[in-house]
Amino acid sequence: MPEGDSVYQLAKRLQFMRGREVLRTSLRVPSVALESFDGQRVQRVWPYGKHLFMQFNGGKVLHTHLKMEGTWSIHRLGEKWRKPGYKARVVLVLSETPVPIELVGFELGLVDVFRANEYAERMGYLGPDVLYPDWDSYGKEEAKRRLAVIPDRPIGSALLDQKNLAGVGNEYRAEICFLAGLHPKTPVAHTDLDKVLDITRRIMWANRNSPIRVTTGVKRAGENGYVFGREGQPCRRCGAPIHKDTLQWGNDELERLIWWCPNCQLGP
Ligand SMILES: [Zn+2]
Repeated sequence: MPEGDSVYQLAKRLQFMRGREVLRTSLRVPSVALESFDGQRVQRVWPYGKHLFMQFNGGKVLHTHLKMEGTWSIHRLGEKWRKPGYKARVVLVLSETPVPIELVGFELGLVDVFRANEYAERMGYLGPDVLYPDWDSYGKEEAKRRLAVIPDRPIGSALLDQKNLAGVGNEYRAEICFLAGLHPKTPVAHTDLDKVLDITRRIMWANRNSPIRVTTGVKRAGENGYVFGREGQPCRRCGAPIHKDTLQWGNDELERLIWWCPNCQLGP
């Protein structure tokens, strides 16, 4: 599942786009289908939380989100890229070095275009990005402030809300709560937010360049996490079977599945 670290890695992989000219644009989403970056150069590609941005020298930004199923793939122009069952939402043909490249975004959950000077206004609702360099000087305190606004909200729900902090998805939510010794339904007011946010940054930072997410220190698939997706299996610390349930707070539309160890994670 794409979380902040996946988009961080994706943006890194796409840095080759900078300076290249767009030879052809195809945005296959009705609201932006008429937008074109043809003849413009790519100025910047960057992540923010789970969002990806590409800025062109015509003054506009292409904003995309992978949501559940999205992927980007890079091809030499002319190479076959169609995948049965997957819809291409964005196709960009980029110039030169040494051959033109066709960049395809499949099944993107969101595709939008706006003027670069609207960035702050459009994206300002997001909390601080866990992987940004200003986390220690600014991000952590700002996330703490935002999380504390609703003290009775379950920590598991508050961590997923990108308005509090940007980048945490369902897998990290589960692992953070385990490492903090908290049941995901514990109200924010009953948690040590410094500890929760330090764990969040530590594990996401440690995985920022890793193709497989590891929270246990063990890189082997199947041993890389404590609770996420492990219902019924023994806790790696105490041996009790991991539980699974759903968590919804108010009418939120966040991912609902939660996992926890009944011994290692204190209930609300
Ligand atoms: Zn346990």
